[in-house]
Amino acid sequence: MTEAKGYDIHIGLEVHAQLNTETKVFCACKNSFGAPINAQCCPVCMGLPGALPVLNQKAVEKAVFMGLALNCQINLVSHMDRKNYFYPDLPKAYQISQFDRPLCEKGWLPLLCGGKEKRIGIERIHLEEDAGKLTHSDQTGKTIVDFNRCGVPLIEIVTAPDLSSSDEAKAFLDTIKRTLQFLELSDCKMEEGALRCDVNVSLTPCGSQTLGTRVEMKNVNTFSGAVRAIEFEIKRQVHILTQGGTVTQETRRWDDQKGISILLRTKEEAADYRFFPEPDLGQIVLEKESVEHLKKSLPELPAQKFMRFVDTFGFSEKEANALLDSQGKCALLEETAALGECSPKSIGNWILGDVSRKLKEGESEEILLRRLTPVRLSQLISLTEKGTISSTAGKKVFALLLQEDKDPQELVEKYGLQQISDENLLRQVVQTVLAQQEKSVLDYQNGKKNALGFLVGQCMRETKGKGNPEMISRLLLEALNHPESTGRLPKML
Ligand SMILES: [Zn+2]
Repeated sequence: MTEAKGYDIHIGLEVHAQLNTETKVFCACKNSFGAPINAQCCPVCMGLPGALPVLNQKAVEKAVFMGLALNCQINLVSHMDRKNYFYPDLPKAYQISQFDRPLCEKGWLPLLCGGKEKRIGIERIHLEEDAGKLTHSDQTGKTIVDFNRCGVPLIEIVTAPDLSSSDEAKAFLDTIKRTLQFLELSDCKMEEGALRCDVNVSLTPCGSQTLGTRVEMKNVNTFSGAVRAIEFEIKRQVHILTQGGTVTQETRRWDDQKGISILLRTKEEAADYRFFPEPDLGQIVLEKESVEHLKKSLPELPAQKFMRFVDTFGFSEKEANALLDSQGKCALLEETAALGECSPKSIGNWILGDVSRKLKEGESEEILLRRLTPVRLSQLISLTEKGTISSTAGKKVFALLLQEDKDPQELVEKYGLQQISDENLLRQVVQTVLAQQEKSVLDYQNGKKNALGFLVGQCMRETKGKGNPEMISRLLLEALNHPESTGRLPKML
């Protein structure tokens, strides 16, 4: 993480998320990724003369829902505006967006990062349409214009410059992505461009109240790219300032492959876009009751879950992140914990350990979660915690459970996996092994302490792997260190 000695770092983000509505925002074209080029467009989204837009109510609802999740004020009356600029991926030569009266304003997101809790201001969330996509071919020297993406509903989430490190920016982006996914507002597939962000960075001398000159970086397509772009920009600005120079307000293009940003243009002002209210659409009027109703239907959000996992369940921030990265894992944890049989920490450890390993090995999450139900996971953990089965047998039961789709208890019985924790029985095993392994006993007595491991292994073999290894280890130590207490010395001692 880059630090800038003597300067405060201010980072702001503009996150663009495609909404997963059935149809586009102003026409009935299908909103889906991967169709053949220009197969999903119509006169409206291609901007043909005379075509009129009709606002998709679902898109408005989804934008408002995200606004409520981020504690925004919802404007009951708002409108769409035309943002005028020319680019080949924008057939109308203007984008329908929102300017002076967006759907949502003045919100905040609670963020826990590096043990520090802070609120990140959300300046606004507005609804707009996506542009088309240009694909440049070096081979033919030609560019393909695909209008399928024209008119896909987007929300733009604009933060205040409240983030002060690339770590915080990453934590913020992770939380926004999870929120969009938990609320089923966007599928957030970054590789398909469903979630993109612009980053702005400014530095001010420590303690100064005025904000420094803002430099914006476009084309940041991944969260790790955002981290690299921020780090690069902080270093670039520190270099300029320490050389006595001044930072100019500009927009730069982030090149993730080269790991550098390139000057795109000196910053345009809002006036350059000649914003004016979209004359083909009326005002957007929301009913107070429907907004209240939406607010009441909000579930517990990922930001709160994250804090609960850390503060109440005792997970580290890294573990909480790993659990929240998958809705399936998160639900498995919560539902298993709700059964009240095992502690959330031990459930989490299973999920982060064995379950995650299986998924990494290529097991389908859908099948895994269907077979490893909360009841079964709870039973499996209880069996190991009570010592009915060893932790090794626990792993075996887990693997069998995925193959055979049976309850852990059933599998333990079927495969005879119960652990032997009968002390008298194990003491006899220990005596037998000690009598057979005279050399190892001598080694141990002569200071070769690792001979103990071998003896434990022999006892496990004697019990066909079912002996309680901790108990065996304890009984072996007792016999080796205090042979008199057992009353039965191995004969050569
Ligand atoms: Zn269309």
